[in-house]
Amino acid sequence: MEDKVYVIDTSGFIVGVHFTDDTMVTVPGVVDEIIDRTSRLRFDLMHDAGLRVEPPLGVFKEQVVSAAASTGDAGVLSETDIDVLAKALELAQKYKVILISDDYAVQNVASGLELEFKPAGSSGITKEIVWELKCTGCGVVVKSGSECQICGSAIRRRRAGH
Ligand SMILES: [Zn+2]
Repeated sequence: MEDKVYVIDTSGFIVGVHFTDDTMVTVPGVVDEIIDRTSRLRFDLMHDAGLRVEPPLGVFKEQVVSAAASTGDAGVLSETDIDVLAKALELAQKYKVILISDDYAVQNVASGLELEFKPAGSSGITKEIVWELKCTGCGVVVKSGSECQICGSAIRRRRAGH
């Protein structure tokens, strides 16, 4: 199995992506853009958990700029956007890369470069929520129904493991 690498842009820290065992990478420009306290805290936690901050190689920035020119996004991409895309492209030479960005221009250029991307809010690295039906009285977990067969209390849907 190929190693999976998540390249995370600024929106990933604003929306908040969950921890993952996979490699997480961002670029210095993103770190400069994270200014609000919550995003900074998320960044610090992820950095402690192994998030890498690396600038991209120039050769990949050139490829991104030329791809952006052909998709018509060159005028709206920031220097940081270009760096994030270039880093993703660079790592994609070796790894299975998923770019995390809510920016439509970034997503569009990523498509042009045949890079896989996901929006931060619904990224695959957020934990999947598993629901279960649990009795509010005795706590038994059931497969169906609205009333507990054991104690007669109401059955509620809730997140499994909570
Ligand atoms: Zn019950």
